[in-house]
Amino acid sequence: MVDTVNAEIIAIGTELLLGELTDTNSVYLAQQCRNLGINIFYMTSVGDNRKRIADAIRLAFSRADVVITCGGLGPTVDDMTRQSIADATDRDLEFQQDLYDQIVARFATFKVTMTDNNSQQAYLPQNAIKIENPVGTAPSFIVEHGDKVVVSLPGVPREMKYLFQNEIIPYLHQRYKLGTIKARTLRTAGIGESTLDDMLGNELLNLSNPTIGLAAHHGIIDIRVTAKADDSDLADQMLDEIETAVRDKAGMYIYGTNKDEIETVLHDLFLENNARISVLEAGIHDAVIEALMSAHHEDILAYRYHANHPDDVLSDFPESAEMTFRERAHYIAQRITQDHNTQAGIAILSLPDVNENPDIDIATVVAVYVGGELKSRVYGFGAQNDLTAKWVSRWAMAYVWRQLKEQLTNAQ
Ligand code: ATP
Repeated sequence: MVDTVNAEIIAIGTELLLGELTDTNSVYLAQQCRNLGINIFYMTSVGDNRKRIADAIRLAFSRADVVITCGGLGPTVDDMTRQSIADATDRDLEFQQDLYDQIVARFATFKVTMTDNNSQQAYLPQNAIKIENPVGTAPSFIVEHGDKVVVSLPGVPREMKYLFQNEIIPYLHQRYKLGTIKARTLRTAGIGESTLDDMLGNELLNLSNPTIGLAAHHGIIDIRVTAKADDSDLADQMLDEIETAVRDKAGMYIYGTNKDEIETVLHDLFLENNARISVLEAGIHDAVIEALMSAHHEDILAYRYHANHPDDVLSDFPESAEMTFRERAHYIAQRITQDHNTQAGIAILSLPDVNENPDIDIATVVAVYVGGELKSRVYGFGAQNDLTAKWVSRWAMAYVWRQLKEQLTNAQ
């Protein structure tokens, strides 16, 4: 069995609190801990203040086994981490001749004058385990305090990552029996969150290891499966099993894994099957057109039409003038598919300035025509901004993908 290890991350630096610096170090450290099977329950940011850093470390000791600090190891007066760790672990700072010699040698190599400040870096809390930093100047260290450990890393991300990978991970493996946590994302499209929830069922959704979580973004729902195990192979095996169980229930809607995008998957499906698509977009930026064309070398669009306003399309489709907004989208999706002899057609009509007009309840219509089947969806919002455009266009692409896939599967 693996040990249960709880860690806490403390990012040190007043720049963080002033909003001048994004704390990417903590994000990195949290991901690394997750991969090692170490639980993180708290992450703290604290300014360059001796007492507050020491208080944050004491508090972290009260609820974690391992405290990881980053930042504040430089040579200046506001680099307090060394002193604060000494305070929190009830010990003094101690001069380290070998560290001092290294600093002197480094200054000599770079032909820079060393000041008194620089010698500060030669002091470490008593009995600290020194960690050489071959990629920078700030020496790093570990203090073992009773059954607790505090790991102190520099703030410069490149140095912090190097030391974590090459020094801290081996140290943690030697001190604890660590497991691993692995995750995989199955991306679904063309299904709502509650329907997907019902489809997967409580038995799967309530598992404690592996676990399943749903996350919706802009019309795409991710099923994230996570497994905690003694080693990486076992975690992979658990993920394979849970993935099979999920696919048994909702495989129809899973278009890809991890970072797969619907437009890329849709594009490839069309290409593999020599299929082409017709798209008309009015009152929305070239959302579907742009997505399908970006980064793809082969054009699957047989027909593309862009208008600034839904009324602008009337000159090309005058027979739809008397139709309702929704009927017009239906008619156009079907017409462009048939006229251009494509396997699918998408028509998106979106009215601008709907927010100023409370009488409009349908602001956007998306109609999709695939293999003789018509489906549409209406939205109360306009699709003029990037976010709403993404939402609407992803639904359209997801629906086309699923319909085409279903038809191809049935035809086999
Ligand atoms: P050094 O002596 O090499 O400067 P240090 O430990 O004193 O190391 P800091 O002075 O705290 O590090 O930070 C140095 C730089 O590293 C910051 O100016 C910033 O660019 C980056 N940095 C510090 N902390 C973080 C963080 N939590 N996330 C991302 N970048 C950070």
